[in-house]
Order: sequence, then C-alpha cells, then structure tokens
Amino acid sequence: MSKIIQVVFKLLWGALRLAIWLLAVVFRLTFGLVWRQTLGRSTVYVRRDWNDRGVGRVRWSQLRDPRWDTVSGGAQIENPLPLLHGYVWCNKVRGKIGHSCAHGPGPHNIKVCMLREDNSRLIWQRLLELAGPDRRLDGG
Ligand SMILES: [Zn+2]
Repeated sequence: MSKIIQVVFKLLWGALRLAIWLLAVVFRLTFGLVWRQTLGRSTVYVRRDWNDRGVGRVRWSQLRDPRWDTVSGGAQIENPLPLLHGYVWCNKVRGKIGHSCAHGPGPHNIKVCMLREDNSRLIWQRLLELAGPDRRLDGG
C-alpha cells in the first residue's frame, strides 16, 4: 500500500516539476520577447561627432554594429580617446545632426557616435554589452 502511495507521490512530484519547468520556459520566452520589443523601440541619442552640437534620435533597432572607435563619421576626425560608434541610415535619424544628404542620392549609411551623457543607463549598458567594456577607462 505504501509503495503505491510512494509511486503516486513520485508521479505527482514529476508532474509538478514538469509544470514548473514549462511555466519557466513560457515566462522566459514571453518576457524575452517583451524585453526585446521594448528595447527595440527605445531611443538612442546619437551625434555625428562627440563635439557636434546636434543630437539626433534613432530607435535601438535601427542602430547597427556598435563598437569602440577613434575615428568619427563625416569629417573622419581622429579622437584621442575611443568613443562608441555605430551605423544608422540617415533617413532614420530624427532631429538635426551634422549630416547633409548633398553628396549623393540617399539614404546614406552614416557613422554616428553615442555618448554616455546623452543616453539612458539601460541603453548604455546594452551598448557596452555589444561593444565591450568602456575603453575610455583604460587610461593612456
Ligand atoms: Zn543622407
């Protein structure tokens, strides 16, 4: 008799664990999707160069290939310190940044830079995850 109870308990326990596991998977998938959508819609503030006074806004999902780089877009000025740069299509940028579409038919894939002080903590952290740790802290 007690053996049957033991078997039933084992089965119940197994079913419960399976249910919890399934819930966890569903939760992770849903949460992950919502998270990605939220992030994709969040705004990244970009400049043509760190000292460009114009700040443009793009959606996270429009930003490509974030990386540390010392050469800015446009005038290709070499900066003494590496800055976070990325690529966006110029027609996806809202606001005024130092880019004119004068030099040829658009849209143009332009290089922009992202500054920590322009962007939210969430965006900055996500950028660092993609581009690697802040190289401005290397010194030298
Ligand atoms: Zn353009």
